[in-house]
Amino acid sequence: MSDTTPVIEIRNLHKSYGALEVLKGVDITAPAGHVVSLIGSSGSGKSTLLRCANLLEDSQQGEILFRGEPVRWKGTGHGRRPADAKQVLRIRTNLSMVFQQFNLWAHMTILQNVMEAPLTVLGRPRDEVEKAARGYLDKVGIVDKCDAWPAQLSGGQQQRAAIARALCMEPQALLFDEPTSALDPELEQEVVRVIKDLANEGRTMLIVTHDMKLAADVSDHVVFLHQGLIEEQGPPDAVFGAPRSERLRGFLSATH
Ligand code: ADP
Ligand code: MG
Repeated sequence: MSDTTPVIEIRNLHKSYGALEVLKGVDITAPAGHVVSLIGSSGSGKSTLLRCANLLEDSQQGEILFRGEPVRWKGTGHGRRPADAKQVLRIRTNLSMVFQQFNLWAHMTILQNVMEAPLTVLGRPRDEVEKAARGYLDKVGIVDKCDAWPAQLSGGQQQRAAIARALCMEPQALLFDEPTSALDPELEQEVVRVIKDLANEGRTMLIVTHDMKLAADVSDHVVFLHQGLIEEQGPPDAVFGAPRSERLRGFLSATH
């Protein structure tokens, strides 16, 4: 892989749920070290696109490349599935997802939550994983919560734990699906700060967000999705400062 090979490249992706066509031919590239934000109205297909990118969801047409390596498929159309389970696992573990609802395991402590996948999915040694997990929890500012249960934490702390959990997989890219949408405004900011730190470190990220200020601050590239198609895209200055499409202008004025 050359240095310019994108971590994720999606070409002409089509995805339907039964007769409902949700993605109608979408191209997205996340170059290494770049932050790409996806914005758009509810129902425009943002979450579906993220889930297709890390193969949590099947798609019917188009290509998905991970570091230049195309996903291999068998079958076509609604019968299309990834052909190689090992490739799926490799891609999925390298594209760690952070969800709106945190999805921490309630019966595990915060430290156990962060350690679980590196231990069981990657089979890494326990002492090494514990050291890394404590390091990532420290990085997101909650290392004092190692032994707490998820329910004992605020929403902002739980989301920071979920980010530490994603980081502990040492993924090639992080995928965020509305990471601050479930949080009260004052808790939102502590998560925004962590995401900004990660962007400054040069992490590759694909972020679905309703927070236009976050998208404007951290993104190299912003994509506006409308009914399953890219309506407009570009650097944040252009997308937010000089939107060309009427729909994007309408969307932006409705979010303020
Ligand atoms: P967004 O994240 O932009 O709000 P989604 O990707 O969640 O949009 O949804 C896009 C469209 O796909 C919506 O019409 C939604 O109702 C539909 N959809 C999402 N998930 C499913 C599913 N599992 N089964 C059927 N339809 C779905
Ligand atoms: Mg969504």
